[in-house]
Amino acid sequence: MLTPRPLTLALALAGTLTAHAAAPVGGAGQARSTVAPSGLEAAFIDRSVRPGDDFFRYANGMWLGSTEIPPDRSAWGASGELEERLRLQTREILEAAARSNAAPGSLERKVGDFYTAAMDEAAAESKGVAPLKPALSRIAALKTKADLATYLGEELRADVDAMDCTTFQTSRLFGLWVAPDLSTPTRNVPYLLQGGLGMPDREYYLSTDPTMVETRGKYRAHVETILTLAGIKDAAKRAARVVDLETKMAQVHATRLESLEVKNANNPWPGTDWAKRAPGLDWTRFFQAAQLAGQPVVFAWHPKATAGLSALVAHEPLEAWRDWATYHAVDRRSTFLGKAFQDEAFAFYGRVLSGTAEQPARWKRAQNWMDDVVGEAVGRLFVERHFSPQAKAKASEMVKSIAAAFVRRIDALDWMAPSTKAEAKAKVQALYVGVGYPDHWQDWSGLEVRRDDLAGNVDRAGLFHRQQELAKLGKPVDRTAWCMLPHVVNAVNLPARNALSLPAGILQPPYFELDAPAAVNYASIGGTVGHEISHSFDDQGSLFDSTGRLRNWWTKEDLAHFQASGTQLAAQFDRYRPFPDLHVNGKQTLSENIADLAGLAAAHDAWIGTLGGAPAPVVKGFSGEQQFFLAFAQSWRTKFRDPLMRQLVVSDGHAPDPYRAQTVRNFDAWYAAFEVKPGETLYLGPKERVRVW
Ligand SMILES: [Zn+2]
Repeated sequence: MLTPRPLTLALALAGTLTAHAAAPVGGAGQARSTVAPSGLEAAFIDRSVRPGDDFFRYANGMWLGSTEIPPDRSAWGASGELEERLRLQTREILEAAARSNAAPGSLERKVGDFYTAAMDEAAAESKGVAPLKPALSRIAALKTKADLATYLGEELRADVDAMDCTTFQTSRLFGLWVAPDLSTPTRNVPYLLQGGLGMPDREYYLSTDPTMVETRGKYRAHVETILTLAGIKDAAKRAARVVDLETKMAQVHATRLESLEVKNANNPWPGTDWAKRAPGLDWTRFFQAAQLAGQPVVFAWHPKATAGLSALVAHEPLEAWRDWATYHAVDRRSTFLGKAFQDEAFAFYGRVLSGTAEQPARWKRAQNWMDDVVGEAVGRLFVERHFSPQAKAKASEMVKSIAAAFVRRIDALDWMAPSTKAEAKAKVQALYVGVGYPDHWQDWSGLEVRRDDLAGNVDRAGLFHRQQELAKLGKPVDRTAWCMLPHVVNAVNLPARNALSLPAGILQPPYFELDAPAAVNYASIGGTVGHEISHSFDDQGSLFDSTGRLRNWWTKEDLAHFQASGTQLAAQFDRYRPFPDLHVNGKQTLSENIADLAGLAAAHDAWIGTLGGAPAPVVKGFSGEQQFFLAFAQSWRTKFRDPLMRQLVVSDGHAPDPYRAQTVRNFDAWYAAFEVKPGETLYLGPKERVRVW
């Protein structure tokens, strides 16, 4: 559920914008050499800033002053630098696979053929709009609302994820997520989530904020341009209809906060009930076409929005639906077509939505496309080359010590009832942690990849993925399964599996290094591990017991105490203002902020435990405690372009990185290490410091 590193975010967006080259994942043209291998860089520190006034700026001020965001990026920092390095390593792997002439059908051959097709810009140009033809004739054949229902079912993809890797956006009318049953977590069930919007969230359609209003105007123009490029007549009129229809969808959509209310999402509707509960769409045809017809129940994650969207199918004219379907059929494929399409996709998704100045190089976009649809196959080749058994062993050992620290912290709580404590400890002890990569790799043998058909490869892979997910229905849940790619700079907690994934991509410098000082490894990757473990107990995770079942295991008093700490922390974050007209939303980011706080506390305990009572070695003139907090703040060093910062504050579950670094102000040890005094900006009195666990 929810992820710690900003990259995530970039990847989440790459996912949401699917094929759009413009996702902020981009990256600079060449590797940058500013990675601090030890994870602690004295040269980044700005000694003119008092640590107690702005710890993020103290730890990173010189770096902030001397760093430019690369033109093809909308943000840049520690994770971006690492990501850039991983991209170059991945590029070598993909190029080698493309040259390898490996046996037909082998994993290496499929990856190599996909990459070859993705890199063939000339072929994309010369094909013109031909790759759109099958999709457009399919839409032209829709003569009735019954046809439309079948089409919407055919188009369903497993492209959303409500709790694990959390992707709520799909431009299809609904998104499919196959996951454990909230009440019986040993079995897989289908969830339908709301969809249909081309922009990231309903706010983009409904907010009266002038920037949002302006973005809407640009979106309408983008829809018109895309339709014009595809040779569709009356593009302006159709674009207005598309935006009008999506605005109506946005009006019935749940908000981002409502989407996180798991308790409201546990709606197992029998297939035959959908017509009653959400009248309008012909659900029989929809489920038939989506291959969900035989399912005893389909869960409605967004019951109200589902009813609202279904009613729109009945009430809005077929013409409007055809225009909407046409636009998205083209837009989703636009980056796989010629230059005019790619430039337009970048102009909107890259420049307008994310503020990126320059389109990333083709090889980087090719990686984004592949990560979206065949990412695990790429990750497998990456792990073989760049993740050693020693790294896996050391990271596993750190995970164990941090989990043990968590158990000790729970034991020491004076406010928690023994019954709650017992379940909390059982939950940590039963936690499954995947380190580096999944235990079982996916079987790609059923996927057809052609060396000369990029758009077709992406289409086939999307459908293949849906079939793989559908095949899990009715089978027992695999607790070791991942939602995240092995080569990403990220980590994730999977609440319904009581599991955690720690990809090989983040088990790299500057977050983790075999030879780094323990204080640095524990603050950086350790903080992340603690963060993910803590998600098992935060406002969302505490809804699930040690088996992954949605069940309240807290006493009323314990919950009240926990919520009071949450309110205090939310108020702390509400006061941060990246823009005069916009503050961080303390409630929207609460789970993540609790995870940062509790995770760092457990990592700190675990690190102290490694010292065995001896003082920590001084490194570069810093005491152990100073190394710990500096490494934490430096692990969050990032610069953002304003449009991306705005997008994140509005729609992301994480506070922006600079504020995450300020989490340290809740730690007594930080005050002692940096002699922070009353009157300094970040100073909190001992009672104002939030302690959740
Ligand atoms: Zn998180």
